[in-house]
Amino acid sequence: LDEQEAFDIEYWLLEEAKLQRMPKPKSLAGRIALVTGGAGGIGKATAVRLLREGACVILADIDEKALGSASEELSGAFGKDSVRAVRVDVTDEQAVIDGFANAAREFGGLDILVSNAGLASSAPIGETTLALWNKNMDILATGYFLVSRSAFNLFHTQKIGGNIVFVASKNGLAASPNASAYCTAKAAEIHLARCLALEGAADQIRVNVVNPDAVLRGSKIWTGEWKEQRAAAYNMDTDELEEHYRQRSMLKRSVFPEDIAEAIYFLASEASAKSTGNIINVDAGNAQSFTR
Ligand code: NAD
Repeated sequence: LDEQEAFDIEYWLLEEAKLQRMPKPKSLAGRIALVTGGAGGIGKATAVRLLREGACVILADIDEKALGSASEELSGAFGKDSVRAVRVDVTDEQAVIDGFANAAREFGGLDILVSNAGLASSAPIGETTLALWNKNMDILATGYFLVSRSAFNLFHTQKIGGNIVFVASKNGLAASPNASAYCTAKAAEIHLARCLALEGAADQIRVNVVNPDAVLRGSKIWTGEWKEQRAAAYNMDTDELEEHYRQRSMLKRSVFPEDIAEAIYFLASEASAKSTGNIINVDAGNAQSFTR
C-alpha cells in the first residue's frame, strides 16, 4: 500500500466505526399499534417488542386487573406517553367501536392492529356444548372480525394504508384431536385474514397471520384447562405432553411468547412491506406438515 491508500483505508475504517456507534433509528418510531389481549402472554410480549422499536402501544384486554399491571409495568419501562390501556371485550360490538375510536383519538390515529385476544378450550365432539362452540366462535372468529372492521374503518379515514397481524394457531391449519371448536374458529381467523388481505390491498392495507404452536410458558392458556384437555386428548400426562411437543418439532425446541412476538414484529414492520395474505408458522419446524 502506498501512503495515500493506507490513509484512505484508515479513514474509511474510522468512518465505519463511527457509523456503528451511532444510534440506529427505531423502525416503528411514530407508529401507533393496538394489541388485543395485550395484558398478558403473547400480547404483552408483542407490546414489549413493538415498544422497543419505538411504537406507541394501546393494550386492549377484557381483564382489567391484568391490564392495569401490564400498563403500569410497560409505562415504567418505556415511558407513560408510549402506552395506553383500554378495557375492551372483543365480542362486544359497541365496546370495540368505541374503544378503537377513543384509543386512536388519544394517540392521533392507528397504524397497526395485532388481533390476538383469545382462549383455548375444547372437548370431544360429543361433549362440545353449543355454549362451548359459541364461545370459541365469538371470541376467536367474531372477535377478530369486529376488531378488524374497526381497524379498516380507521385506516380508510386516515388514507395512509394500515397493517393487521392475526395471531391464529397451527390448529387453524392442522386438525388436533378433540378440539373441533377451537380448530374451526382458528381456521376461520386464517381465512378471514386472507379475505381482508385481498380487500385491503388496493388501499395498501396488509393483513398477515402468525400461527404459534403450543406456547409452553408465559401464557395463561397453557397454565389453564387447555393443558389438561390436550394431555387427555393425547392420552398423556402433562409432562409427557410438553416433551411430545418438543420432540415433534424438527428443531427440538419449545416455542415462547417472545418467539411469536418476533414474527409479529416482522409482519408489522416495513421489513415485510411486500407480504400480505401470508402465514408464518412459529412451531420450531413441524416435520408432520412435510410428510402428511
Ligand atoms: P393468554 O391467555 O395468556 O392471553 C390471552 C389474552 O386475551 C388475555 O390477556 C385475556 O384476558 C385476553 N382475552 C380473552 N378474551 C378476551 C376478550 N373477549 N376480549 C378481550 N381480551 C380477551 O394466551 P396467549 O397464549 O397469549 O394467547 C394469545 C393468542 O394466541 C390467542 O388467540 C390464542 O388462541 C393463540 N394461541 C396460543 C397458543 C398457546 O399455546 N398459548 C397456541 C396457538 C395460538
